[in-house]
Amino acid sequence: MARCNFCDADFEAGRGDVLLVCPYCGTAQTTEGAKFQDHYMIRVHFNQSESQRTLLDWCSKQLGAPQDLPVAAKFVEYKLVFYPFWISRVDSHTTYTGMGKDANFHNEWPQRRGAYKQIDFFWKPESGSFTRRHEISISGIPGVDEDIRNFPIPTRAKEYFSHAHAEEFDGKVLHSKIGEEEAKEAAKKAAYERQTRLVLDEVDKIETRDDNLDVGETFLIHVPVWELTYRYGNKKYKASVAAATGYVIESKFPRSMAFRAMGIGFGLISLLLGIGLLAVAFYFGLLIGAGAVSGSMLTIIGLALLYKGASRKEAKERI
Ligand SMILES: [Zn+2]
Repeated sequence: MARCNFCDADFEAGRGDVLLVCPYCGTAQTTEGAKFQDHYMIRVHFNQSESQRTLLDWCSKQLGAPQDLPVAAKFVEYKLVFYPFWISRVDSHTTYTGMGKDANFHNEWPQRRGAYKQIDFFWKPESGSFTRRHEISISGIPGVDEDIRNFPIPTRAKEYFSHAHAEEFDGKVLHSKIGEEEAKEAAKKAAYERQTRLVLDEVDKIETRDDNLDVGETFLIHVPVWELTYRYGNKKYKASVAAATGYVIESKFPRSMAFRAMGIGFGLISLLLGIGLLAVAFYFGLLIGAGAVSGSMLTIIGLALLYKGASRKEAKERI
């Protein structure tokens, strides 16, 4: 439990929540009760029924989805959750020295321009410096699902956090388990990694480097996500849809009977082929031969396809 320093209401807060949003007045505050000013949100542009329609539309386009999904699916649970993210601008300047690979070409083939009989590779010292401005987003809930953690946030569309807007959709605004300073540290680390990748575009081996990473404007932003559950047949499927853009963050969807039957068919064929090849390999004593290897592979693939086809496990598509 926590007590709001601004409206005096008691509200739920768990262990590890360090930046709290009061569900009664919407004020963002530290656990010591200091108001946090740089608090933004992305507004909801897809209401509940629009996000449901977007989701079913997306699902029905996926491989093997049953044709009657848009009409047969029934939504049984829906809630709007505002997830906290920290966004930092990191101005990064890196100076580096390293070794790059280069090559000398000798003896061009007379008939083939640009083709050489001999190529010598060698290391060549390189150096340089560059400046980049990175926008780093750090999830306020480190343990949250990877798909939620990494989905694109349209930060340009940010507005000051509005408690009334969150309430309009009965949205649940989650506390952040990461404070401002910790978020800045994490942003600095992420910017360093991005700079490393940029240096490695120029050299193959980094020998020395000097980084000047300046974490600038940092703010907290709450991003709305529809968490939906629908029933199809006798099973339930869960999905998350970005309420600002209609982007399907993650979704499970049913596979049609025909699609699963096809999987079982392929599985059986691979299995039989695999067993056949294994038998041939054994018969001719070629145990380590290619036949045994491909035979075992096909057998394994066959078993895997059979299992996937026969099990009623739903599919999850990565985006
Ligand atoms: Zn309050």
